[in-house]
Amino acid sequence: MRVLSVASEVFPLIKTGGLADVAGALPAALKPYGADMKTLLPGYPSVMSKVRDPEVRLVLNDLLGEKATVLEVTIDGASMLILDAPAFYRRAGGPYVDETGKDYPDNWRRFGALSLAGALIAEGGMPGWRPELVHVHDWQAALTPVYMRYRPTPELPSVLTIHNIAFQGQFGLDAFAGLELPPHAYSVEGVEYYGDIGFLKGGLQTATAITTVSPSYALEILTPEFGMGLEGVIASRMDNLHGIVNGIDADIWNPKTDPMIARHYDSSTLKERQRNRKAIVEHFSLDDDDGPIFCVVSRLTWQKGMDLLAGSVEEIVAMGGKLVILGAGDAALEGALLSAVAAHPGRVGMAVGYNEPMSHLMQAGCDAIIIPSRFEPCGLTQLYGLRYGCLPIVARTGGLNDTVIDANHAAIQAKVATGVQFSPVTTEGLLQAMRRAMHLFEDRKLWTQMQKQGMKSDISWGRSAERYAALYSSLVSKGM
Ligand code: ADP
Repeated sequence: MRVLSVASEVFPLIKTGGLADVAGALPAALKPYGADMKTLLPGYPSVMSKVRDPEVRLVLNDLLGEKATVLEVTIDGASMLILDAPAFYRRAGGPYVDETGKDYPDNWRRFGALSLAGALIAEGGMPGWRPELVHVHDWQAALTPVYMRYRPTPELPSVLTIHNIAFQGQFGLDAFAGLELPPHAYSVEGVEYYGDIGFLKGGLQTATAITTVSPSYALEILTPEFGMGLEGVIASRMDNLHGIVNGIDADIWNPKTDPMIARHYDSSTLKERQRNRKAIVEHFSLDDDDGPIFCVVSRLTWQKGMDLLAGSVEEIVAMGGKLVILGAGDAALEGALLSAVAAHPGRVGMAVGYNEPMSHLMQAGCDAIIIPSRFEPCGLTQLYGLRYGCLPIVARTGGLNDTVIDANHAAIQAKVATGVQFSPVTTEGLLQAMRRAMHLFEDRKLWTQMQKQGMKSDISWGRSAERYAALYSSLVSKGM
């Protein structure tokens, strides 16, 4: 089956978050199911610098008023279609923001162009390859199914995946004319959104099927609390809504071979984790006692509950816990956490910034990872924690709910527990979970059993790819 995937970031060419990991992993994960996937993404400078000897596949002299070329290259066995449109994408700064961190004012045009290019390829505009299905990701590609609906595109099924509904691509009505959609596309069935234009909203209305990255999040976004204004639209598409959990790259995240940790181990050699723990103790100058070391690896934002964490440090230390934090983001949260660190030398440590090796070492050396997110579409750090024997202590929400089995009495008896869940997501809720974790840690036999159970969890791409493949097949065989 020929599938066109459209995304604004794809690992290893460009990454700012989990979307890139998923878009990057899908082609290889779906290959065993017979999917011939090509992935369309913008030619940002960092992408162009990695492209060698591309083949020119399509020249567009007027893509929303600018010149563009679609270049094909193969990266790690996967075919990438790079939309090289210098007027849109060759800029200093990131994929979405300029060097000062501000959104580019013409993001509606930049990603309208990406979406339109996707629709043109869907129509058969690229000689020699026409997809049988189009899979688009997040608001940046969500206009592809909209263009497919309103242009004379032959009927073709489409899938829209929501990685985080907080990002919707909402722009003023004045953008509409520049998108080159027919006037009737500005309607409730199309891109109209509270008097503005909604990219994600338009995609939700027009895609054949909608997926999000966990079953729990699929239910949550039907409610006003999590739907962020789109709950009504999603409810109207409920029959075509699916929750499919993300997988992880089990080669990169493998404690048996990980080059970024101090000592390799597996579930039969868990004692070897001590060497990684020692590396953490030394790096953060922690007291070397037997109590548990908790870690946090996170963007420092309200979504991730980092304010709740800052408000809990004092008590976590008072309980006898130690804590190490790796994160970057909101300056106020960073300040609050740094002052908590300063108040507890030997007990709490913090590394500010993005540090891939340290994120691996923390999972390999700490006893548990704390994830107090207010909402979490899927989440990856709890999956890494499971794989590394670093027990996840998680808010009961979204993908965290779907991937961690709470150590309640029944789960412990049945030997299926893999972590601790808590609700409500408040400081008190988090502290109660921390008390439970401290208590569980006192029973080392039980703790080890939980570590081993977590390490057995099937969190690679296999099962998720099977679900995507089944969805694709059902849509293509229905002719829609
Ligand atoms: P989100 O995409 O919402 O930030 P996820 O849990 O889905 O959350 O993915 C976060 C990814 O980024 C994980 O791979 C995590 O290890 C990594 N990460 C987050 N913060 C840091 C950091 N400061 N340094 C290194 N890696 C980080």
